[in-house]
Amino acid sequence: SLDVAGLHVTVAGLGVSGIPAAKVLHARGANVTVVNDGDDARAREQAAELEALGIVVRLGDGATLPESTELIVTTPGWKPDKPLFAAARAAGLEIWGDVELAWRLRGPDAAPWLAVTGTNGKTTTVQMLASILKAAGLRTAAVGNIGVSLLDVVLGDEQYDVLAVELSSYQLHWAPSLRAHSAAVLNIAPDHLDWHGSMEAYAADKGHVYDGNRVACVYNVADKATEDLVREADVEEGCRAIGFTLGTPAPSQLGIVEGILVDRAFVEDRHKNAQELAEVSDVNPPAPHNVANALAAAALARAYGVPPKAVRDGLRAFTPDAHRIAHVADVAGVAYVDDSKATNTHAAEASLAAYESIVWIAGGLAKGAAFDELVAKSAKRLRAAVLIGADRGLIREALARHAPEVPVVDLDRTDTGAMLAAVQEARRLAVAGDTVLLAPACASMDMFANYNQRGDAFAEAVRELGAGA
Ligand code: ADP
Repeated sequence: SLDVAGLHVTVAGLGVSGIPAAKVLHARGANVTVVNDGDDARAREQAAELEALGIVVRLGDGATLPESTELIVTTPGWKPDKPLFAAARAAGLEIWGDVELAWRLRGPDAAPWLAVTGTNGKTTTVQMLASILKAAGLRTAAVGNIGVSLLDVVLGDEQYDVLAVELSSYQLHWAPSLRAHSAAVLNIAPDHLDWHGSMEAYAADKGHVYDGNRVACVYNVADKATEDLVREADVEEGCRAIGFTLGTPAPSQLGIVEGILVDRAFVEDRHKNAQELAEVSDVNPPAPHNVANALAAAALARAYGVPPKAVRDGLRAFTPDAHRIAHVADVAGVAYVDDSKATNTHAAEASLAAYESIVWIAGGLAKGAAFDELVAKSAKRLRAAVLIGADRGLIREALARHAPEVPVVDLDRTDTGAMLAAVQEARRLAVAGDTVLLAPACASMDMFANYNQRGDAFAEAVRELGAGA
């Protein structure tokens, strides 16, 4: 692995990736300077912690390149067009993100990576994959945007056989030399376009996850853009394109046949042309988009050589993280489901597709999204809609255009109490057999600290209903 002793490294940005990066580099003998745009109380606290170790921190000055810099390690979220990077490129310097740093510093016996990217479903798929690998008796960890830092896992003392790694499009942008064992792109829908500059640039950054794959590039048969990326990738000889589909699988695909997850890509028995892996009901929850996630996880696990039984056992052992299509309660024959994590329209579309007759609670911060396609595709499933949050007007207008017959309650509220009112309205509108679904299609920050708090408020409101029923 790379020797950074004595190297002058500038770490761009404090925070969840910058702080571990600075510490790792410092511990390995680099001369580390951290530059940060902000200079608030929190930044000062973080800076003090690093300064105590002997790391130089420049607060309120994220644009100036320290003179002796030989390498930049950036927070993945920093946009490529930042002035700091222009200066670095002019000086011929390399710019790495946290993923590239982990990749370059990993030891010679480091575990191979099974990588997952996509607009939606990354965390869930990586967790399913880790569960399957564990069921096969492998030492593994799910690494991603939640919990443990990538650097801590990759460079820590614990030994792993293989890692299940979630990668954002930002991280991939800043990880030029990453080479995964196998990788999956789950789906590509418009998101973060202001960061990447265009849909093409966004897709290209995601597609980089396939470069250097040795065994399998896993793509979504229903999302042609993912297949195109496989074709454009620069893979190792012998690496196969493996599709996953909710339909009947063709050869070299995983798919569904009569309620069974079936593998036609990695079949052990040469007298058979398909291998049964698990039942759809083994997937938790068995919503279509989540079954697709399970197939992608299974494809990566199978590419790594995991036997069919471990796929089934791993899927059965998996429980989704909170606020991802979480069934909260049934009240008076109506199911209440929390998908607060549906923070964009593509995610909300997937969760709306999972139910037949829905009272939909939506709204929040739209982040520039358009709601026409979502509403047009979901209209026939909507019993009613209850709208909250700052940008609810955009959803109301889309409903008026594409689903004029659907009753809409516009709560015209952005206070935290609005969620209770929304759930009460939803209860009034719902009929036994319906699902009241919180799938906001928007970010939460206009009303809540984050999507967790929004989901908790929903669950709390449902409990109040139940207690009153
Ligand atoms: P990510 O890590 O990519 O944000 P998560 O697994 O946390 O993805 O899921 C986020 C939300 O995206 C879920 O709550 C669900 O609404 C939606 N979702 C999950 N998987 C998919 C999928 N395969 N396609 C579309 N939407 C999905």
